[in-house]
Amino acid sequence: MTEFPVLPGDADPAGKPDECFYCKQTMGEAHGPKCVLIVRLVYYVVHVDGDFIGLWSRDETAGWNMEECLAHKHGSTWCASNPAEGDGLWLYGKPAFKKFAEAIKPGCLCGLAKFTLVRAQSWVRYSGSDTPTRSESP
Ligand SMILES: [Zn+2]
Ligand SMILES: [Zn+2]
Repeated sequence: MTEFPVLPGDADPAGKPDECFYCKQTMGEAHGPKCVLIVRLVYYVVHVDGDFIGLWSRDETAGWNMEECLAHKHGSTWCASNPAEGDGLWLYGKPAFKKFAEAIKPGCLCGLAKFTLVRAQSWVRYSGSDTPTRSESP
């Protein structure tokens, strides 16, 4: 994997100024293998309650394998309604997904939305604040 050095903007302003807030690597050294600042775009087919909804993509921690990407979607504190609230990017299907997410409020789509990984980009990039190429969340 390409190595990305820890930059000043990766430090916690309230913490140590010379290490990455996330992976604790020292300034100038490469970010750790599972640092959340190093991401790759991953595409998912989304179903809700068995209905096909659309295609959605998200910047995932580049160090995650397919199982870890899916475990994050179905078995973590991440909420499955998040894609209705601006998490990731919909290629299509966003209005339908939002409709489901709205209808189930104050509940959420955890346990109802199913994410199937269809493709992960092979190249990775740095998503921290110290570069003009960082990802812009919609
Ligand atoms: Zn890091
Ligand atoms: Zn939820």
